[in-house]
Amino acid sequence: MTKRDYYEILGIPRSASGEEIKKAYRQLALKYHPDRCPGDHEAEAKFKEAAEAYEVLRDPDKKRMYDQYGHEGLHGSGFQGFSNFDDIFSNFSDIFGEVFGFGGGRRSQRRRPSRGADLRYDASITLEEAAKGTEIELEIPKTELCDRCGGNGAEPGTSPEPCGICGGRGQVYRTQGFFTISTTCAHCRGTGKVIAKPCKTCRGSGTIVKKKQIKVKIPPGVDTGATMRVSGEGEAGELGGPPGDLYVFIEIKPHETFIRQGDDLYVEIPISFIQAALGTTIKVPTLEGEADLDIKPGTQPNEIYTIRDKGIKHLRANGTGSLNVGIRVEIPKKLTKEQEEILQQFAKLSGENIKSPSKGKKKLFNF
Ligand SMILES: [Zn+2]
Ligand SMILES: [Zn+2]
Repeated sequence: MTKRDYYEILGIPRSASGEEIKKAYRQLALKYHPDRCPGDHEAEAKFKEAAEAYEVLRDPDKKRMYDQYGHEGLHGSGFQGFSNFDDIFSNFSDIFGEVFGFGGGRRSQRRRPSRGADLRYDASITLEEAAKGTEIELEIPKTELCDRCGGNGAEPGTSPEPCGICGGRGQVYRTQGFFTISTTCAHCRGTGKVIAKPCKTCRGSGTIVKKKQIKVKIPPGVDTGATMRVSGEGEAGELGGPPGDLYVFIEIKPHETFIRQGDDLYVEIPISFIQAALGTTIKVPTLEGEADLDIKPGTQPNEIYTIRDKGIKHLRANGTGSLNVGIRVEIPKKLTKEQEEILQQFAKLSGENIKSPSKGKKKLFNF
């Protein structure tokens, strides 16, 4: 590809003065500035092309070489144009400082847009809410750009000035022997800017912490350890970067009646040995009120009855878990005289020989 003529790029005659060259470049830089045309590759190319033209035409030596020999003339000078924006911004910080105020300056600090931090929120919900799904409302602290100063940290009507110590670069260079060492400028703490009148709302930081209400839908079937990602509700990005995400970590509170076993629930119900032997219908608690459960005659201790669909809805499949009812058979600790007689009679009918324990005698085992 042949290179375009620098005067043509800037749209100026060969006789243009230094001031006219600068003015022409400033207009193009404004038009194709990457802050104004994010992601536009054509604008990006034009922005770089204009910067290269300006870099040559503003410099009397380079301009003379170019006027005399064209692009060929510059080859020997080692001039290559610009490969990245930062070089352009730091080279022409006078222009960008004037034209763009803080926006142009920000870029010359060699800081790049960065994604905001993710936030974590721990939500504790009940078993009932987990079973049916719920919507929770969270109040989360969020760092947002300050409304008052628009994020630049300066009182409205004023703007941050380029740092006089580092010239707006945020870095200071020190030569030590053969080496040049760059360190973060202590005066502006690497921002390249000093704020004479800090914004009263954010005290110059450009960001404020706000409480934000967010509603998060919790699907039925979640369990402790589940994580919900709420896209874009994390902290604000820096310099126009995207915000982070909000992660809601679910914890299910322990239930006083039910024990969760995956998507099944477990509950233990005591029945008397008579109920176990004769069978009956009992009431058992479920997450949605009581249900009837038929106990078969001859039910054994620790037998488990399953009531289908009374558990927790499956998170990633259709259907619902079961309610498992563990039967605890209780033996009466005291019998009335009459009850005892009847049971003795029962024993006789079953062919069991029951001896009354003799009182006052030495126990067989001493615990
Ligand atoms: Zn502010
Ligand atoms: Zn500085």
